[in-house]
Amino acid sequence: MRFRFTEEQQRLRQEIDDYFRQEISGEFLEWLERQREGSIFSPESPEFTQKLAEKGWLGLQYSRGFQEGSIFEEEVGYWRAPVAYHNERIVGAIVQSVGSDEQKEYFLPRLASGEITIALGYTEPGCGSDLAALTTRAVPDGDEYVFNGQKTYSSRGTSANHAIVAARTNTEVPKHKGISLFLAPLDIPGVTIRPLPMMGWGADMAELFFDDVRVPAFNLIGERDRGWYHLAASLDIQRVRIGEVGVHRRMMEELVEFVKETKIDGESLSKDPFVRDMLAQRAIEVEVARLFNYRSVWAATKGPVPPHYTSMGTMYLRETSQRLAQTATEILGLYAPLKGSSKWARLKGSAEASYRAAPGYTLAGGTSEIQRNVIAQRGLGLPR
Ligand SMILES: Cc1cc2nc3c(=O)[nH]c(=O)nc-3n(C[C@H](O)[C@H](O)[C@H](O)COP(=O)(O)OP(=O)(O)OC[C@H]3O[C@@H](n4cnc5c(N)ncnc54)[C@H](O)[C@@H]3O)c2cc1C
Repeated sequence: MRFRFTEEQQRLRQEIDDYFRQEISGEFLEWLERQREGSIFSPESPEFTQKLAEKGWLGLQYSRGFQEGSIFEEEVGYWRAPVAYHNERIVGAIVQSVGSDEQKEYFLPRLASGEITIALGYTEPGCGSDLAALTTRAVPDGDEYVFNGQKTYSSRGTSANHAIVAARTNTEVPKHKGISLFLAPLDIPGVTIRPLPMMGWGADMAELFFDDVRVPAFNLIGERDRGWYHLAASLDIQRVRIGEVGVHRRMMEELVEFVKETKIDGESLSKDPFVRDMLAQRAIEVEVARLFNYRSVWAATKGPVPPHYTSMGTMYLRETSQRLAQTATEILGLYAPLKGSSKWARLKGSAEASYRAAPGYTLAGGTSEIQRNVIAQRGLGLPR
């Protein structure tokens, strides 16, 4: 295993870093911090996303490579840049690997320009971990499919104009063999979007209802009835969490700054053995999570990513996220529960925001139990 970056890749990181340092400042930074109050993740700014599209950075994963895309993502996380998150890496990767030439030509530039924005429509009220049990139907009718069903916990459901939807196209075969993936527009008749604001994860989460919705057959991505396999491969991409590693690296730096600057009874907090011990432990964990995720990025440049790599990376990172939120809360003490808008808040209310987001970390994109199942089966070869 060797995942050293080339000089060109390092230059790219520097260029992105310089750009964010310069652009995410002043009034724009203040706006961003106000928007982040409800969510650990940054909001999406169409104007800012457009600027990044013009720089050619949005579709880096498929225009230049997985490593370049990951460099961009880590920097976005670190700088908390307000960029649409799901677009390029998850859906772009699916279209690129299994889409037709016409679909690549149509969708990839629009994903890269930010014109098409994406919600994830997998989970349903009756299925989450056991996703293959999904019941949303897509029935062919001429050159369209007619959708009926419901999705829930769709991140960016209220703000995106498309959703990647897993729907049942065949009821005559075992459950995981009758699913297809669609890139469905959300602004068409029969789609109802009901906001599902979620603690710490912002207000753009939604339930999506499909009531005789007619989706063009062109929007079927990959082979009909093979969606389960496309989806499994896309989850392996989704579970490369290098962007979140950037978020936590930043949080670590801010906590270290805070303890250096803060005095209790005339003594610097940085000298408190308990505080030092907690921070050292979290620093190890964030670094391990970073390396796990780089291993997945590296593997992606060689071929399909082994599922247990991404499950280890995602599970370890997300459990680290929860411990980091707890550590921030303990270090900030009475400042910790204050929202960013309070004049007394420290670290712009990050401790409060991360603490609220913490429970969702080990649910979103597959629970810790499911990740451990993947590691046991796919990594250790244990029976189902
Ligand atoms: C913040 C957040 C964002 C999300 N974003 C999206 C999104 O954008 N799009 C989307 O489609 N979904 C999204 N989800 C939904 C998420 O993918 C599901 O919540 C998750 O897969 C778990 O499904 P469930 O909630 O139905 O729980 P269940 O599957 O009902 O699980 C309940 C409990 O049982 C355990 N369990 C279930 N099966 C097993 C098993 N085989 N072995 C061991 N333990 C098991 C689980 O670990 C869990 O603890 C999001 C969820 C959250 C919290």
